Formats: sequence, structure tokens, C-alpha cells
Amino acid sequence: MSVTQLGMPQVRHGVGNIFETEPFPKYAERELKNEQLRANLGFATHKIRDKRAAVTGELPDWQDLRTAGSMIKQKVMANLDTYLEEFERNFTARGGHVHWARDAHEANEIALKLIQAEGVDEIIKIKSMATAESGLNEYLEENGINAIETDLAEEIVQLGDNDRPSHILVPAIHRNRTEIRDIFRKKIEGVDPNLSDDPAELAEASRFRLREKFLSTKVAVSGVNFGIADTGTMTIVESEGNGRMCLTLPETLITFMGIEKILPTVEDYEVFLQLLPRSSTGERMNPYTSTWTGVTPGDGPQNLHVILMDNGRTAALADEVGRQALHCIRCSACMNVCPVYERAGGHAYGSTYPGPIGAILSPQLGGIENEFNSTLPYASSLCGACYDACPVKINIPEVLVHLRGKDIDAKKAKKKQIPTEMDGLMFGAKKLFSSGKLMALAEKGLPMSKLVTGKDHKISKLPGLVGGWTDYRDIPEPPAQSFRNWYKKERPSETKRVAGERVDIDALIAQNKNKVAEAHAAAEVAATDKPAPKTEETK
Ligand code: SF4
Repeated sequence: MSVTQLGMPQVRHGVGNIFETEPFPKYAERELKNEQLRANLGFATHKIRDKRAAVTGELPDWQDLRTAGSMIKQKVMANLDTYLEEFERNFTARGGHVHWARDAHEANEIALKLIQAEGVDEIIKIKSMATAESGLNEYLEENGINAIETDLAEEIVQLGDNDRPSHILVPAIHRNRTEIRDIFRKKIEGVDPNLSDDPAELAEASRFRLREKFLSTKVAVSGVNFGIADTGTMTIVESEGNGRMCLTLPETLITFMGIEKILPTVEDYEVFLQLLPRSSTGERMNPYTSTWTGVTPGDGPQNLHVILMDNGRTAALADEVGRQALHCIRCSACMNVCPVYERAGGHAYGSTYPGPIGAILSPQLGGIENEFNSTLPYASSLCGACYDACPVKINIPEVLVHLRGKDIDAKKAKKKQIPTEMDGLMFGAKKLFSSGKLMALAEKGLPMSKLVTGKDHKISKLPGLVGGWTDYRDIPEPPAQSFRNWYKKERPSETKRVAGERVDIDALIAQNKNKVAEAHAAAEVAATDKPAPKTEETK
């Protein structure tokens, strides 16, 4: 039983755009009817997925890089306080100012004060998940400040009526070229009324609008890909050059950084510079990599600020299984391979973070107790494609299952722990699956499944509580006999075991290891027995 002591620090969840706005299945069902959205998403995700597969497949050490990325992130999480303080010391020593924000509201308030101190009513922005999470644009607008997005996709979303980003990397993935042309014709002042949907023309229209803003705006707001503790350096990788403009032209630069974005050293950055572009855009290297370390007199912004935002990250860090969600480098690879995301789209997740990462991050930042966030961990078939694609090896399915467990526990606690029908069912399943004898008995009933199997060899409707399973999927017709029974018949001598005898797992592992060692030794002997290959000198 957990005991709350007076004066003990309480878990502080985040605020802002990290919440689902209605139950996921309801939202997704509506989005599934949008055929244009599904066509756009299918086309875009498959294209990026194929590019990614090609550039990761050509690296012989790709799996080692993933392991290195994962281990660096584990090290960061284990020493987060130390690295953040080291970063603060080095950033400050080089002329920057560090601000700490416990949540998104505090981060927005700090940014507003800094902008107001510069006496401006307009700022330019680089695409930033942290400011999308905090709802900075809306907050600034309420306070009379116009925030102009300069990333092309973010600009499309901002100019679209009541639109929201639906993908981490490609925020306007739900729009096609014709829709973008229509938005630009309607919203960009002075644009050619005959503007076509040719990508080059659309980019030119955006450039026409933004160039003047880059040259005249005094304050820029950015996010950050990584902050480096041992030098106090900030880094951004991007594709369009708008980021470089925002980072170098204005007098004041305000950067939002989630506290998990820290890396210990510049050498660690090297690993992520290989992992990130390949996993996100499917490129070997991204076109623009900007790093900035402190203020350089007469060159670039002279007022450098960073807002270190917690917003529920410390709460996520406290969860031993869930904390791996903080390893995320926002590459979006998990989205591009997810069958649920591909069909439902990003808006269905409600929060700034869509797709598989959103399904595990939002409930942790905002709290699984939140009515609608609690539906997100179920937005997955647990196929594991996200885990395979993740460059830092976040075991998303593991966290999804863990969060489902937490959701059930939270709901039980609310209902004062009265056992439900489902609890009874799960108790029975536990007994069944942990007893070989009971399983063997149950398997004898397999032929009975014919009674509920349709002509199409599928079970489409189950009764009662288990009927929830067939509400959304069919079950293939069970085989006439189980594998266990088949094995018993085929290999009777191997399946005889003395009653009560247990398999010695350790002995099996040791036996296996010996076999591997013997195979290696044999391969070495074979290699030394072979005549040495001829070199140029010996030919
Ligand atoms: S969870 Fe992994 S694959 Fe998904 S966005 Fe984050 S780093 Fe990329």
C-alpha cells in the first residue's frame, strides 16, 4: 500500500496540447471515413518508409548505432539532473540565459515576458514540437503577439482554416498539393492568382511571403534537437534553411527545450547525426545542421535564451518502464510504419504527439488518469513494427502494455477495487495459461470451435464479455488439433516426461552456449586449414 507523507513531492503532470480530446476509437472512426486523408497518408508514409529502409539498409553497423543511441539515452536519463546543471553552467558562461519552467504555462509566460521586453508584436518561428506542446502560438496571440511559422509544412497548417499538424516531421501530411495551392491563393497577400500546384511554384510563393519577415523581425523562437552538456551547445537539423535564417538573423533567439533533449558530449551527437536523418527523412545527411554555442559579438543573435521545460517529463522519468519514451528523438519513423496511424491519421491522437510515440508519451506527460488519454495505449495492434523502426530502440509495445495495466489499476482504484466481470475472466485465464494440464484439457475442445466458425473460416462474433474481441476483428478458424497434441503424436518419445519434473532452463542455455562455442571453434579450424589467399606479392 502506498502512503502519502505530508511534505513529500507530488507527481506533477504536464499541461498544454498533450491530451486526447475524445476517446481514440471514436475520433479514429470518424477520420477513417475521410478517404482523401487516407490516400494522402498512405502515399506519403510509404514513400518515406521506403527511403528510410534503403538508407538504413546500406549501413552495416545500423543495429550497433541503434544500440549506441539507446545506451546514450539511458545514461542521460540516469543522470539527467547532473547533465542539465552542466549544460546550464556552460550555456551561461558563454553569454546565454537559462530559464526553468515546471510546465507549459510557465514556459509560455517566460517567453511572453522576453518578447515583450524587446517591444515587438511579431516573431518568427522554426518548427518546434516543444512550442506546439505548450500552445505558445495561441498564448502569444491572446497577448497580442503574432507568431509566424517559417517551416513550409507548418506554414501550410497555420494558414489553413482551423487546421492542426498531424505528423511530427511532415505536419501537413494530411494535405495534398491542390489543397495547398488553394490555401496559398486564399491566404498569401499578393500571390499570383493563377498559382499552380507545382511544388516549385508553391515553395516560391512561400519564399516570397517569408523573405521579408526574415529580414525585418527582431525576435525568433526555436525548438532544439539536442542540447550538449559539456559545451552548452544547441543544435537543430532541418531541410529548408528557414531554421538557419531564424537562428542567425534576429537579435534575440528564444529556444524551448524539453529537459530530456540533453546529450552529455559532442561525441554523443555524432551517433544521433547518423540516426536522425536516416530515420526521419530517409536521407544520409540532412541539408542544414546548425549548432550555436553562446553569443558571438557582432555575429548572430546577441540575446540568447533557453527555456528548459519539464511539463510532465519528471513524472515520466519516475516510471521505470515508461521512461524510455523520453529517449525519443522525434524522427517519426514509428508513425510511418504504424498500420493504425496510417489509417486513422495524426489528428485522431488529439495531442501534439501522434502515432505510436504519442500513444505512450501523451498519457505519461498528462497522466493516464486523464479520461481520454487513457484510451491512447489501446491505439495499437501491438504488431511491433514501431519497435523495429525506432532508431533508439524504444520498446513501444512494452510501454503500451505497461500503460494499459496502469490504466486498469487506476480505474480499479477509482471503483474502490470491486472485482469486475473482466477481473474474473482474467483470473480464469491466468489459471488456465499457467497450468499445462488445464491447457491440454482446454485444447481437447478445439474441434468444438467449428460451431461458431462461419463459412469464410473465420469467427466473427463471440458472446458476452469476450465479444469485445470480435467487435473489431475476426479470429481465424482454430486448427483441428493443437501443436502440443500434434507434437505428442509425431514425437512420442520426446514428450514423455516424469510427472513433476521441471525443465532446467539454465542447463539448456549452457548446453546451447557450448554448441555455439563448438561451432565457432570448428569454423576457426576450417579457416586455418585453408591455404592463405594469394596476395599481389605471392602471385
Ligand atoms: S519513438 Fe522512436 S521511431 Fe518514434 S519518433 Fe521517437 S525516436 Fe522516432
